[in-house]
Amino acid sequence: KAKYLTKITDINKLYLENILNEGDIVVDATMGNGYDTKYLAQKVGKDGFVYSFDVQESALKSTEKKLKKENLEDRVKLVLDGHENMDKYIDKEVSCVLFNLGYLPRADHMIITKPETTIQAIKHSLNLLKPHGIISISIYTGHPGGIEEKNSIYDFIKDLDQSEFNVLESGFVNQINNPPQLVLIEKKKEYI
Ligand code: SAM
Repeated sequence: KAKYLTKITDINKLYLENILNEGDIVVDATMGNGYDTKYLAQKVGKDGFVYSFDVQESALKSTEKKLKKENLEDRVKLVLDGHENMDKYIDKEVSCVLFNLGYLPRADHMIITKPETTIQAIKHSLNLLKPHGIISISIYTGHPGGIEEKNSIYDFIKDLDQSEFNVLESGFVNQINNPPQLVLIEKKKEYI
């Protein structure tokens, strides 16, 4: 059993378990090796759907393999494109958009998510979210460029109108070495 408060991905799941429902349409904005895509596909069930994005072909290959092993491939669309273009692929309201930022462990550490494209993708996500839908963003600052990305995300989210969005952060207060941060955004009503 995972320790509840050790990894930001596990903490995220404490929230997601109460947010995701069978039949939901959701987005994995950073597919990577597909752990999150597989988790989302299991949670939304056979009537749900997952759109999953990455700019690396190797990410699509390893995710496809994972999904096929579990017979989940029919409920997932794997897209080889940046999340900043998600609006070109999704024309339905979604319940949840997951971002797990930074680089893919055990792959090219130079391929990282970047401030401008991340913010663009968050803006698209705000538009695509249905009321009470959630954006979950796991943010890492230990790699070059990570702090800049975090700062631009915070500059953007701190100005979101509280009558339209709830914005929550979770973080480790007593950890050394650039602990990760989790940000959750709930859309309270229609966003114009
Ligand atoms: N969620 C993943 C998993 O379960 O394995 C891990 C994600 S990893 C920390 C971050 C991923 O974001 C990398 O695979 C990287 O290629 C991808 N990425 C970088 N820029 C991107 C972009 N503009 N759009 C979508 N994905 C991007």
